[in-house]
Amino acid sequence: MMFHKKKTPPQPNLWKINQNVLELIFECAKSSYPNEFGGFLKTDTTKSFIITELVLIPGTISGDAHAIFQMHMLPIDYTIVGTVHSHPSPNTTPSSADLALFERYGKIHIISGYPYVNSSWNAFSYKGDKIKLQII
Ligand code: ZN
Repeated sequence: MMFHKKKTPPQPNLWKINQNVLELIFECAKSSYPNEFGGFLKTDTTKSFIITELVLIPGTISGDAHAIFQMHMLPIDYTIVGTVHSHPSPNTTPSSADLALFERYGKIHIISGYPYVNSSWNAFSYKGDKIKLQII
């Protein structure tokens, strides 16, 4: 029997996030509501899978991720591993504009849905598949 060598699948339990980063995301989402807020997820080193910092995008822009994350704003910084934005509803499903952004930039993306608590967010891969993100 022959097996074709497959690409290593994304490891679902690799990513972690500091609790305080998540709480900051909820606070930003709450204070921007009913507008959406956007930010970048940052690790402490390029080899780390622990999200330790939220980098905010100045100003609040209503609309979906494509309005918040303009191409010229996407930083070239390898400790920035992805994006976060809020949705004004409990629905955390990525929109088609969100998916286009995810595919273009970053490895992990968080969508925080209303009411911006622990039970109302999800993390996604660049393909839009749900990723388990462990809170530490
Ligand atoms: Zn969105």
